Amino acid sequence: RELVVSFGEMLIDFVPTVAGVSLAEAPAFLKAPGGAPANVAIAVSRLGGGAAFVGKLGDDEFGRMLAAILRDNGVGGGGVVFDAGARTALAFVTLRADGEREFMFYRNPSADMLLTADELNVDLIKRAAVFHYGSISLIAEPCRTAHLRAMEIAKEAGALLSYDPNLREALWPSHEEARTQILSIWDQADIVKVSEVELEFLTGIDSVEDDVVMKLWRPTMKLLLVTLGDQGCKYYARDFHGAVPSFKVQQVDTTGAGDAFVGALLRRIVKDPSSLQDEKKLVESIKFANACGAITTTKKGAIPSLPTEAEKKRVLHLTCPFCLP
Ligand code: ATP
Repeated sequence: RELVVSFGEMLIDFVPTVAGVSLAEAPAFLKAPGGAPANVAIAVSRLGGGAAFVGKLGDDEFGRMLAAILRDNGVGGGGVVFDAGARTALAFVTLRADGEREFMFYRNPSADMLLTADELNVDLIKRAAVFHYGSISLIAEPCRTAHLRAMEIAKEAGALLSYDPNLREALWPSHEEARTQILSIWDQADIVKVSEVELEFLTGIDSVEDDVVMKLWRPTMKLLLVTLGDQGCKYYARDFHGAVPSFKVQQVDTTGAGDAFVGALLRRIVKDPSSLQDEKKLVESIKFANACGAITTTKKGAIPSLPTEAEKKRVLHLTCPFCLP
């Protein structure tokens, strides 16, 4: 039982053809398939693991294109449902020259928001060794109820629950609502991964010191991770905690680094769940996940740059001179 089942949104990001412009200034946009939970499933599969995606797509050209991307990457599509009456979600995204990200979402409502609990592939979810999800699927009904039900089914069937909130503040009605809803399912997760930005958003404190991270720790958790971009990540388990630096690479586009990191780590955990209790094994797995995150930043887009087994070996072989101190 090594299947990772990922639940949530799959959509198309439209990114400017040139760097550092606002959405209004962009001369043209490229289609970049994405959606964090779908990226995670593809990351697991690219690394040789079993993965499936559960979510809803529009019964349109883009929805069928996304389903084909899952299939071409070896991700089980038994949990994918199509909606004849709603479009696949679109997001226009840019990183402006001043470092600010601009988003414009077309979700009014999009197909992913319309998944119902009745449409869940219960048998597939019950086969998960790890059930992974984010928080975007919590924003609107009926998807929210479907999300909560899927978590329940997976937990009852003995899966580990993995949560990467993937905060998209612009999609929530307010800052406070986002915080409350993201934390409303905090206690159920066995594995939680947050970025530095999410740590600050959830705690209200701009610091990655242990005492701040511990505000997000729960006794029911098995692993809490804080990813720190090119600095690697910090890990917190029941009996130990520490930090693992990443690998030095030529960064081109960081989109999808977090998803590659999560996918790689989950792949290792389903292969050997004892790594959650064994610090030496866990650190090895985190190094692997860091390498996969690092590789993802060396190419444009999320899905095209998610590493394969062969590529990850390349980075792991870049030993001392390239490692961060
Ligand atoms: P995103 O939401 O953009 O996908 P994230 O904020 O969730 O990403 P990051 O901290 O950016 O996650 O990246 C995840 C992991 O990938 C890091 O912990 C690190 O190991 C690796 N990584 C990311 N950026 C770099 C980089 N520039 N150089 C080396 N490793 C990196």
